[in-house]
Formats: sequence, structure tokens, C-alpha cells
Amino acid sequence: MTMKKKYTNLFFDLDDTLWDTAANSLESMKEIYLIYNFENYYSSFDNFYTVYLKHNNRLWDQYSKGLLKKEELTRSRFYTLFEKHNAFSIEKSEQINSDYMAKTSMKRKTIDGAIDLLNKLNGEYKLHIITNGFKEVQYTKLKQSGLYHFFDQIILSDEAGVNKPNPKIFDYALKKANAEKEESLMIGDMLDTDIKGAHACGIDQVWFNPHHQEIKDIKPTYEISRIDELMKILD
Ligand SMILES: [Mg+2]
Repeated sequence: MTMKKKYTNLFFDLDDTLWDTAANSLESMKEIYLIYNFENYYSSFDNFYTVYLKHNNRLWDQYSKGLLKKEELTRSRFYTLFEKHNAFSIEKSEQINSDYMAKTSMKRKTIDGAIDLLNKLNGEYKLHIITNGFKEVQYTKLKQSGLYHFFDQIILSDEAGVNKPNPKIFDYALKKANAEKEESLMIGDMLDTDIKGAHACGIDQVWFNPHHQEIKDIKPTYEISRIDELMKILD
């Protein structure tokens, strides 16, 4: 006798949930640092990268909230970091950004246990992606890393017109996947976007929290610290 599954449609975040954004970005940024001689402006790679991460996280936070346009993000990602050195023009900064995005998107590292997990879920559940990442790179990342074939619907905020956590992107995703809220589950690493957004839309959430961050102001439906622990929730 087979039990009826509670969840049949699983919606995954991509960056740092399945695709190892932290590792892949670090690797490509080391290449960018050398190519564009960032050592002329920063005392070490680590020094640069610390400043970069803080700046980039702030940009993405504003972008998710709809306070910053995509073009503004891609322009100021590098420009702002070198502005006081008068190192790169806006055009050059945009070129560095394109180069960085192209290099990063070709990297293949996935989150530990992600491929095994997806192989187990494959055929048993309908799998989808909901991502705030840019359409120019998300498909390349999915294809290069061997993740692409697992997914039925790939929902990009670029195409939906709004970012997570706006509930509209989740409504849009449900419609595209032909799924009901009650049978859907959102799995992601970001409380502010993945978890709060799905919660606001009435979808149960799994917070992937590998670094054991403290919970702030929301209680996710489930919490896991390894991505393959998702099996325990579904079984
Ligand atoms: Mg993420």
C-alpha cells in the first residue's frame, strides 16, 4: 500500500541551495582579481573579498526588495568598490561584471548531497526552481552543473517581473507548475526571500540552514542543515 504524499510539487531555490554559489563565486572572483589587477587597489584578495561580499549582499538585499534595478546592481557591483581609486570607468566596471558572471556561470560545484537528493526525488515528485538570479546566467549554471534535467518549471524573477519574497512570484510559480499551495513546498537558504515569501503565499517552507544561523523573526515550517535531510521531511 502506498501512502498518499502530502507534498507533490517541490520548489527549490537555486543559489546556495542546490548550486554552490559561495564556492563558485569565490573561484571566479580569484580569476577576476588577477586579470584586472585588483591588487593595485587592495592589499590582498581576502581583504578585497570581504569588502566585496558585504557590498554585494547589500545590493542583493535591495534588489530583492525592489529598491534597486538589475541594471543598477550590475553597474555598481564593481564600480562602487573602485570609485575612490578612480580605477575603472562605468563601462569598464560593467565589462568586469559581465566577465565575472560569465566565468561564474560555467562553474559546476553543487551543494553536497544535492545531486543524490535530486536523483532520489526524480520521478517521485514534480521539481521546480524559483530564483531571483539573472536569466543571462541561471540556465548556464543549471546546464553546466548537471542540474537542469531534473526540473519541470524554472521560474525566474526576471520573467515573473517581481522578486522573492513578493508573494506574486509564488502565485506565478504555482500557476506555471499547475500546483496547489497545500501540496507544495518551498526549499531555500534565505529567510528573507525564500521562507518569508513562501510563508506569505501560504506555502509550507523548508529552511536550508547549513551554517546554523540564528532565527530572527519567523518560524519556518521545517529546518534542515544538510540538503539531503529533505528526505526525512518527505518520507
Ligand atoms: Mg539562495
